[in-house]
Amino acid sequence: MKKKNIAVILSGGTGTRFGSVIPKQFIMLGGKKIIEYTIEQFNTHHAIDEICLVINPSHEHIIDEIMCHNEFKKIKKVIYGGKERSDSSRSAILAYANEDYCHLIFHDAVRPFISHETISNVIDGLSEYKAIDVAIPATDTIIQVAENKTIENIPERNFLQQGQTPQAFHFKTIQAAYKKAEEEGFTHPFTDDCGLILHYLPDEPVYVVNGDAKNIKITRPEDLLLAEKLLQLQSLSFFTHTKNLSHLLKAKVIVIFGGNSGIGQKMVELCMQNHAQVFSFSKSEGTNINDQGAVSKALESVYEKHKKIDFVVNTVGVLSRETLSSMDEETIDEILSTNLKGAITITQKSFPYLQKSQGHLLLFTSSSYTRGRSGYSLYSATKAAIVNFMQAIAQEWAVHHIKINAINPSRTDTPMRTKNFGFEPKNTLLDAGNVASIALSILFEEFSGQVIDIKKTD
Ligand code: C5P
Repeated sequence: MKKKNIAVILSGGTGTRFGSVIPKQFIMLGGKKIIEYTIEQFNTHHAIDEICLVINPSHEHIIDEIMCHNEFKKIKKVIYGGKERSDSSRSAILAYANEDYCHLIFHDAVRPFISHETISNVIDGLSEYKAIDVAIPATDTIIQVAENKTIENIPERNFLQQGQTPQAFHFKTIQAAYKKAEEEGFTHPFTDDCGLILHYLPDEPVYVVNGDAKNIKITRPEDLLLAEKLLQLQSLSFFTHTKNLSHLLKAKVIVIFGGNSGIGQKMVELCMQNHAQVFSFSKSEGTNINDQGAVSKALESVYEKHKKIDFVVNTVGVLSRETLSSMDEETIDEILSTNLKGAITITQKSFPYLQKSQGHLLLFTSSSYTRGRSGYSLYSATKAAIVNFMQAIAQEWAVHHIKINAINPSRTDTPMRTKNFGFEPKNTLLDAGNVASIALSILFEEFSGQVIDIKKTD
């Protein structure tokens, strides 16, 4: 029988180092509490069976509110922790004493950027080892300082790693270590659970799996600034397409705005080759996305014919390479109303159809969304707005089970690129067909609210 994987999210701390009355795990980050991101990552990981929250009794009302606002179906226990972190871990061990055929995966609530990949690495490690730690190589030189503020020792950096969480254990192993610590009256100050294994079960190897520099522990106020940036720029990277398109696209109904050129055109071609029902709408084919009525009519016509719309894609975008001082009002209006208002219109008008199909909307951004670029200030400003808008809509649509994501292709070989940037060596550009196939494969992913970076492999 497979052992259950139980994530224990340690949230019993009162956050004194943060200098705020609210413990750090309950501070707001991008519209949600830090702990909500942490729970979400475990709740959506396929190999996690159950979640146990360890809290301080005085925060129970905050946890109740979080449970009301989210569908965290895997949370099965909410228990009280103790004064020290190890007291909180011990509470979880006691809570599972009767269900001891399991793995306990302890994670700091204040590490919201834990990736699915790290969680998988930890769980994989448990098939061979009974204790797993997560760490990244130390980049700073670590010095040991005496009470009188002089250096006592500088351990060789090559051997040093920075420990993170999760730390995961076979239940009986971590239970045995805590039992020994209890017998000795917890004389050692342990800041983590692997430390207990090392001290009390010296013959038990603790295997270390690769962590991730982004898995930061929000401890000091400046960590929150970094966390905000990490959240804002969070993206997923794809180099090749991940799905078997011919099998998936068959019989799907797909609307592509801007399917007459560049990446949009390649998407239409691929859809046709793979027997999807694809409909392209573009300005040259008589549909201007600046016109709300035209967008509504386009969607209605497809729905009338097929009685469903599975996916909507917007690849329309205009880029005019000139400085703002030389730009006329008409150009300004065209860029704003096409790149931004057009995408908003498509999003709004697609909603009823995608709600019925629990479908997916794909928008396109550009690498310039992270920082405005001179010479195409309005294009980069609208692409930044697309990301922000998409993130907001992903939250609004989550309850309707509609997905929305934004594709961020790096420099791609398209007519728009050539028109604005002239000749560039082909081997430095992404192939539009490649971008199109990755974008189509994203339509079959379950995530939402993400920027999808498409990059060259070489
Ligand atoms: O401050 P520290 O590094 O120990 O916090 C790491 C994690 O352990 C935090 O998520 C914190 O909420 C949790 N913790 C706990 N019970 C304590 C102290 C810390 O669950 N008594």
